[in-house]
Amino acid sequence: MNCTMAEVLQFVKENDVKFIRLAFCDIFGTQKNISIMPAELPRAFESGISFDASAIHGFMNVEESDLFLVPDPATLSILPWRPTQGRVVRMFCDIKRPDGTSFEGDTRNLLRLAVKKAENMGCQCKIGAECEFYLFELDETGEPTLVPHDRAGYFDMAPLDKGENVRREICLTLEEMGIQPESSHHEQGPGQNEIDFRYSDALSAADNLTTFKWVVKTTAARNGLHASFLPKPLAHKSGSGLHVNMSLTKNGINLFDQTGFEHNKEVESFMQGILDRIPEMTAFFNPIVNSYKRFGSFEAPKYITWSHQNRSQLVRIPAAKGEYSRMELRSPDPACNPFTAFALLIFAGLEGIEQHKTLCAPADFNLFAASPQQLEGIATIPQSLEQALDIAQSSGFIKSIFSENTLEKYLAAKHTECESYAAAQNKEQFELEHYFM
Ligand code: GLN
Ligand code: MG
Ligand code: MG
Ligand code: MG
Repeated sequence: MNCTMAEVLQFVKENDVKFIRLAFCDIFGTQKNISIMPAELPRAFESGISFDASAIHGFMNVEESDLFLVPDPATLSILPWRPTQGRVVRMFCDIKRPDGTSFEGDTRNLLRLAVKKAENMGCQCKIGAECEFYLFELDETGEPTLVPHDRAGYFDMAPLDKGENVRREICLTLEEMGIQPESSHHEQGPGQNEIDFRYSDALSAADNLTTFKWVVKTTAARNGLHASFLPKPLAHKSGSGLHVNMSLTKNGINLFDQTGFEHNKEVESFMQGILDRIPEMTAFFNPIVNSYKRFGSFEAPKYITWSHQNRSQLVRIPAAKGEYSRMELRSPDPACNPFTAFALLIFAGLEGIEQHKTLCAPADFNLFAASPQQLEGIATIPQSLEQALDIAQSSGFIKSIFSENTLEKYLAAKHTECESYAAAQNKEQFELEHYFM
């Protein structure tokens, strides 16, 4: 709602708000929250509400565990699915150390730093995400199954498409929360759906995506279904991607807006900056073992290439005009932490501009049907989480962005995950237990 502190306090008083959820994401992008009563709100704004950060995966140790949540008033929104009497609101928070400094594991703050860097260079990166997910049936005890909610395909209509009412509820709920979905449709896979967002500044885009996932899960559960953001829940069906559309604005002008195929120099450098750092960023865009099963089929990329309109590519320049001109990055999946992912993308793009990088030639052919000769010398996206982690671990670029502590914790947790997966007898069971919820 873009409120100030005073406006939030007034809103709470005037709208029968009884519970205030202070929310944040852990370093893996999982949203967490604590509920406070209205009387505690002034204190929360002033000095923050303390919590046991040793209990949050990847944050602190038991010896040094206190961190503080300070709500960001600009992110106030009502939770429309909670009671209308004794209402519930939610705000995203800044995470502070006891001395008032920012906690380095706060990925929302990391994104803010990236946005500031862009501002210092006179530009703004706007982001619009497209997020895919599956709807699955529950069994008789209410546990999720791998039985898709319908057998419809791309753009299908009801009665084949059984997701229309759930998508409707999701879009209307998001609107009530001040988020603008642009379109929604049934996707390729059975029970697979997609909702796309209007572009916004990068921080709002990450906030909104976090809210979106929550709304999808909640709405599905209210309808007796299980929503899953697992990148590849069904082996031989379409995976779920999180396409990230980015534009670059300078003095109010979108630099992606082009005539013909002639690009702006800075746009080209921005794109090359991102392409160059893809292998190093992949461990953050595609953070789980299952992520790597999605690549290379059903329009999910495999090679580090770009082109116009071609959906076999990693980066696509869609046919769009004016404010909608943009690049689309197709590798990230919904298991990623959007704050980290967007921060990395902005840092990589800006590095490209700083170093005046020259954009490589487009790969104007269908990569899925290409001959071995055509593919010769074309780099691929890392093909496993282990490989992606190794590349991230030895990257100076990645080290320059994260604090040593946070990076170490992220990589260590992910390595452990790879080891547990390798040791698991039943791989599918492991994935479902760890990632399906
Ligand atoms: N599901 C595909 C992916 O994993 C995208 C397909 C599409 O959007 N048409 O990225
Ligand atoms: Mg789409
Ligand atoms: Mg899609
Ligand atoms: Mg897309």
